[in-house]
Amino acid sequence: MTDTETRRAAAASAVSGVEIVLDAVTKHYPGQRDPAVDRVSLTIPAGEIVVFVGPSGCGKTTTMRMINRLIEPSSGTITIGGRDVAGMNPDHLRRGIGYSIQQAGLFPHLTVAKNIATVPGLLGWDRARIAARVDEMLDLVGLDPDTYRRRYPRQLSGGQQQRVGVARALAADPPVLLMDEPFGAVDPITRGSLQDELLRLQAELGKTIVFVTHDFTEAVKLGDRIAVLGNQSRILQYDTPAAILADPADETVAGFVGADASLKQLTLTRVRDVALGECPTAVESEPVTALRAALAGRDRPWALILDTQRRPLRWVSAEQLAHADSLRDAGAPVGAPLSLRSTLQDALEALLAEQTATAVVTGSRGEYAGLITIDTLVAHLSALRAEHGGGHAESEIPT
Ligand code: ADP
Ligand code: MG
Repeated sequence: MTDTETRRAAAASAVSGVEIVLDAVTKHYPGQRDPAVDRVSLTIPAGEIVVFVGPSGCGKTTTMRMINRLIEPSSGTITIGGRDVAGMNPDHLRRGIGYSIQQAGLFPHLTVAKNIATVPGLLGWDRARIAARVDEMLDLVGLDPDTYRRRYPRQLSGGQQQRVGVARALAADPPVLLMDEPFGAVDPITRGSLQDELLRLQAELGKTIVFVTHDFTEAVKLGDRIAVLGNQSRILQYDTPAAILADPADETVAGFVGADASLKQLTLTRVRDVALGECPTAVESEPVTALRAALAGRDRPWALILDTQRRPLRWVSAEQLAHADSLRDAGAPVGAPLSLRSTLQDALEALLAEQTATAVVTGSRGEYAGLITIDTLVAHLSALRAEHGGGHAESEIPT
């Protein structure tokens, strides 16, 4: 058994997804000289996230939409859980497949609750069950049901709309989720936290997820496997992120992986897998003197001020503390914190944005969990280099 198979077997009890098989699937749009998708064959294992990544226009959306028959293939077959989709009623098929797209694709004239209730409503669930499910889904994607269920999409931020889009896609508990650049329209920080959220959900749900993106870093972060697609969805490489980074199949894939492949290795490691740093902390109601004493004589003259639930609020320097009477108005706000599922690439971006060159990590309830500094990242990369002697094709990078 390979590592992946062992992990799959261990996680098998949690898998609710089903296998999807594409066999020589082709789409020839009317009036076009060449097919948009040309004889794609690919097996998407049950319970995995498979990412289609490739340049704009290469046929990612067309390939994905043939799976739920929003687009009919010209030839070839697609099976889901062993059943040929061509023989299924398209409406029934789509109710069993969650679908989430860029800009969330919410119905603007319906409330958040009604949007999430769409497919359960079509399935004929009773009102009480639908209402309970709406609240459960809002909780799941991190939105407070009492605050959000009666709002309209225009009353939400882009990131919140994407969360509702994911909640709607999951509402009827489909085994399969298709996600077409779902986080493409939000800012990078929000995108990072939506990605973390998706990984957290998937660890619980074990769906089969097909995720389309043109961002290779996103593919590396999210994918159990990545299909790198060229023109007409030709599969240039289909493998784990580690294998593709270590050994791109050809020049085109290498170009896509990019010149900074070694920095992309940072995307393969999660914050939870490295030793976190520490600094002095104090709750903002505590006296200044104790924190001043804790900082005295330290190399890094920075401390963190926390709220009563130990969530990070502000960085404060020894110099600022020397003049402060209270911790309530001292220091400068901490940037967006990392979660334990964030990658070291996310950590690099976060710490570059901090005057302290240090990124703060929080746990599942937002509580302070530790720090990542540039030293953490340098140590990690040099350990990887030592282990792999410069990175050879057959080396498996531990994730
Ligand atoms: P991607 O999602 O990778 O950007 P698409 O699947 O949207 O690519 O498009 C693949 C190719 O098919 C493109 O050349 C596009 O112009 C073409 N195409 C997409 N939809 C249609 C359509 N409805 N009719 C004709 N050509 C289309
Ligand atoms: Mg597309």
